[in-house]
Order: sequence, then C-alpha cells, then structure tokens
Amino acid sequence: MEFYMSAVDKVLVINSGSSSLKYMLFNMKDEAMLCKGLVERIGADNANLVYQPTGGEKQSFAVNALTHGEAFEHVLKAITNTKDGVIKDLSEIDAVGHRVLHGGMAFTEPVKVNEDVKDAIRKCFDLGPLHNPPNLTGIEACEEKMKGVPNVAVFDTGFHMTMPEESYLYAIPLDLYEKYGIRKYGFHGTSHKYITETAASVFNKPLSDLNIITCHLGNGSSLAAIKGGKVFDTTMGLTPLQGLIMGTRSGDVDPAVCFFLAKKGYSAEELDTLLNKKSGLLAVGGTGTGDMRDLCEAVNAGNKQAKIAMDMFSHRIVFYIGAYYALLGKIDGIVFSGGIGENSDQARKAICDRLAGLGIKLDEAKNSATHGSLEKISADDSLPVWVIPTNEELMIARETYRIVSE
Ligand code: ADP
Repeated sequence: MEFYMSAVDKVLVINSGSSSLKYMLFNMKDEAMLCKGLVERIGADNANLVYQPTGGEKQSFAVNALTHGEAFEHVLKAITNTKDGVIKDLSEIDAVGHRVLHGGMAFTEPVKVNEDVKDAIRKCFDLGPLHNPPNLTGIEACEEKMKGVPNVAVFDTGFHMTMPEESYLYAIPLDLYEKYGIRKYGFHGTSHKYITETAASVFNKPLSDLNIITCHLGNGSSLAAIKGGKVFDTTMGLTPLQGLIMGTRSGDVDPAVCFFLAKKGYSAEELDTLLNKKSGLLAVGGTGTGDMRDLCEAVNAGNKQAKIAMDMFSHRIVFYIGAYYALLGKIDGIVFSGGIGENSDQARKAICDRLAGLGIKLDEAKNSATHGSLEKISADDSLPVWVIPTNEELMIARETYRIVSE
C-alpha cells in the first residue's frame, strides 16, 4: 500500500458577500481553527476589520477597503502581523477555499478554480444574482493578492446534485429546464454534507447505509432527505425561496399568488422583495423581526399571533419530515442543526411533539439542556433525534484540502 503525505497544511476559507468578506484559517493537520474574522462595509467609507486569533482577544479596526482586494489585503496583514498574527508568512497558506452559492448543473463536486470554472460561475449569475458575483470577486481578489496559491470553489448546491430527476424536475415544459436550467438545485449543501458525515460517525454506520433527515434551521432553513449518505430530495429549489417558512422568506406558496399580485400591479422586483424579505416569521409572527429568539419570547408571553407563526413554522417542517420519511422508507434518525436547530429547544419541542406518530419522543431534560452542542435529545425508546452543530467553514476547508491534495 502506498501512503501519500500531503504537503498541504494551512487552508484559508473565504465567504465573500456583496459588502463583506468573512474568513477563517485552519491548520489541517488537526483541523484546528487558527483565527477568524471579517471585513464589513466594503466599498463604504467606514469599512471595518474584525480579527480574532483562537484563544485571543477579538479586535476591531477601521480600515480603508473600497474593494474586496483591499479588504483581503487587510485580512492577510492581520493574519501575519508580528504581534498576534497566527502565521509568520503568507507562504504558509497552501490553499484558499471559497464558498460559492450556485454551481448550476456544472458542478457536482468542489473544483480547483481556473478560467473555465470562473466562466461557469459567471454563467450562474442569474441563478444566484446576490451571491455569485461577490463570490467571484472574492476569488479574483485572492488570485491577485496570493499569486500561485490554488483557489477551490465549494458550491452550496453541490451536495444536492445527486437528486434523481423525480426530485429535481418541476412539472413545467421541459424546454425551460433545457434552455434556462430551471429545476430544483437546493442550498446549504455544505452544511447538509457536514451534518451527514458527522451523523454517520455518531450513528456508527457507513455513509452508504445511512438514511436520515437533516434539518438545517437558521435564518434560511432547509431539510434534506439523505438516502445512503446522498441527497435524495431537499426543500429549497431553483432559489432558496422554496420550502420551509424562514425568517423573512415565505417558503412554499401557490405560485398563482405571484400572478394574482402581478395583476394587481406588483412588479417582478416587488414580488421578489415581498416573498424573500418581507414574509416568513417576520410577516406572520407580529414581533417586528424574523428572529426565532423574539418569536419564542413572544409565544411565552402569551402573544397569539406569535403562537400561530410558531405553529405554522413547525407544521411546515413536520409536513416535509413526514414526506421524506415516506420517500426514504426507513430512517436511522433525524438531525437538527443551524442557529435554530442547535439552540432553540422550544422550536425543537414544537416540531418533535408533532412527530409522535413516527415514533419520535424527546428526552425533555436533554432537549432543554442542549444549546449548541452535539447531543442525542430523544428518549431511549424513540427513533433517534440528534443535535449536530454544523461547521460549514471546516467542511469547505476539508473539501479544499482534499482537492488540492489529489
Ligand atoms: P443564518 O441562516 O443567517 O446562518 P443562523 O444559522 O445563525 O442563521 O440562525 C439564526 C437563527 O437562529 C435566528 O432565528 C436566531 O433567532 C436563532 N437562534 C440563535 N440562537 C438562538 C437561541 N439561543 N434560541 C433560539 N433561537 C436562536
């Protein structure tokens, strides 16, 4: 047998948004995070850099960052600064992994970036108009400032590309799929993958035998039906709007709502804003926010509207868990993750109490005590329910490490 010792050691992970650039540096020898932070308000005259070395103090500085390239330079300076930088020289960074929202149909796996890959990311601009352009800007900034260091693109849609046609096709004329790529893609793929791989180890099962339902519940939420370690179906669609009720997104509505409102004078842009930014818990919870903490507080204070919103939120999740249970035939368990899934025992209870018919029973004490840690929260005689904290950045670092070590 041949052993290959990878020379790759430190991997920088970048998540580049329209006016922000988040970063984390990992030492892949032991997967330790060395530092993290972000640059906020890129392009404005009050841009700011946050830098936190692991075990050290969080620092915040005003910086000049009119472009992502300038922002990235500040990040590199912070990481290598002589006082509390975590590396001496940039040459210690062996690869950069980038979160890219939409890979369209071109990418089922993370890839090393080259000109063709950048073109393919550009071709997906209309599928991910808010994220793909700044994701590409982030890649180009790294290419410019760290010449010769490989960049790897890790797509939020990638893990879902194993869905069969029966899951991903919409029942609309097929030429729209062929011409524009209109189909279900699914998002949060990096998180669902991390949760699935971790579940295989806590369930002590080979990935290829693992059937679970992964629930990533955050500001944006999605479920995935995992069959033999691979995605069989997921709740988000062409865009992250489909599926569950989210912080400010409606999730599923009758598409006829759009043409009904169009006939009342709403433009495409107004409908987009209505369903993506002004709906969900924000619209129905009566708290003025789409935040689960506010919703729970209002429910506990006896607010009836908040209770309706919580019931709607749980109902939709239970609806999909039931559907995925039926599609998978047999499951090893259910996993909660994301800001809500990891922290809100109240939301988990609201969901699991509705799942008694599937043999699910919480261990109430364990559920109440679990906030952000890896824990089994179901009773001994229940179908297993786990909380698995997600770690999308580590997953991107792992994928990057794997691709550049090949
Ligand atoms: P994003 O999708 O933006 O990454 P997160 O995964 O951080 O979002 O999740 C944010 C959601 O998690 C918010 O609705 C927030 O209220 C909820 N959340 C975070 N901490 C708690 C908590 N301790 N209790 C209840 N909800 C929480």
